[in-house]
Amino acid sequence: MYVRFWGTRGSIPAPLDAEAVREKIVHALMEARGKHLRSEAQIKEFVNEKLTFHQSGTYGGNTPCVELEGNANESVLCDGGSGMREFGSKFFGRPEAKQAHVFHVFMSHFHYDHLQGIPFFGPGYVPMNKIVFHGCHDDLENALRNQMQSPYFPVTFDEMKADISFEIHKPGDILEVAGYKVLTVEQDHPGRSYGYRFERDGKSVVYSTDAEHRAHHHRKKYPFIDFIRNADLLIFDAPYSFNQAGGAKEDWGHSSNITGVDFASRAQVKHITIFHHDPAASDKQLAGFLRETKNFLHRRKNTSMPRKKDKDDKEVVELDESFPEEISLSYDGLIIEL
Ligand SMILES: [Zn+2]
Ligand SMILES: [Zn+2]
Repeated sequence: MYVRFWGTRGSIPAPLDAEAVREKIVHALMEARGKHLRSEAQIKEFVNEKLTFHQSGTYGGNTPCVELEGNANESVLCDGGSGMREFGSKFFGRPEAKQAHVFHVFMSHFHYDHLQGIPFFGPGYVPMNKIVFHGCHDDLENALRNQMQSPYFPVTFDEMKADISFEIHKPGDILEVAGYKVLTVEQDHPGRSYGYRFERDGKSVVYSTDAEHRAHHHRKKYPFIDFIRNADLLIFDAPYSFNQAGGAKEDWGHSSNITGVDFASRAQVKHITIFHHDPAASDKQLAGFLRETKNFLHRRKNTSMPRKKDKDDKEVVELDESFPEEISLSYDGLIIEL
């Protein structure tokens, strides 16, 4: 099974500007000084092997859209942020685009960054295709229709000629979609959001974005830990540091990298990937954020002690803690094979 990230930025698209690109070029040329770089092959090898990811690439600026491997005639997407436009364009180049195709789109919620790619989703305008929007908000259909009303957009929802339907689920529901068993959970976010757990062929992926986990959830038994337990991949909303999440940005509806590592450890998650990046963060800052997250895990491993009863409420918290084998920072274009 593969998971492909088409958009990983939170809140609003954040493209690179000219100054940021120039800075990368200057960095690369500085690093190249004194190296024997004559042929194109030598230069490519230098770029691929000697430059760091943030020097030679970018985490990207599209808002959330994640693809889970589907079938010959079915695709599975999480959210319809601006990355969905990119997915739709590339889909036309795939062999399966020649036949009728069903797109299952699981909506976390309706903040702009999670639906602004839908009006630009090319396959949605092809009559033989079908789109099934899945969500747990009662106003799923209206929320998606209304963003394409005049004066906000020149094309109406009805002009998307694919067969479009809406399936409203309840948190706690277990679904069968495109060969996946899908579980749903309600999350703490302004207007509520929903997370999804996908299981197929013995592998599991949790898509959990725009979810605030409070400080006391680190101590108490917390149902979300059961929702993510033993996941092979946890896609975790963490635009903030621990201090930001519990301080100036408390109640903004998002979580921290430290919370992600803590929960992944408690739930025996194998790989956690940080998601929904701060649109104000540069590639260099995001690389630093990943480094800090890994350092936290390293320190945690070296000081790990079995957890005991919580003194305040006498609840027993999980005693067996393991650590994620991998921490990554998702980026537009990243493919994770499970
Ligand atoms: Zn968001
Ligand atoms: Zn949101």
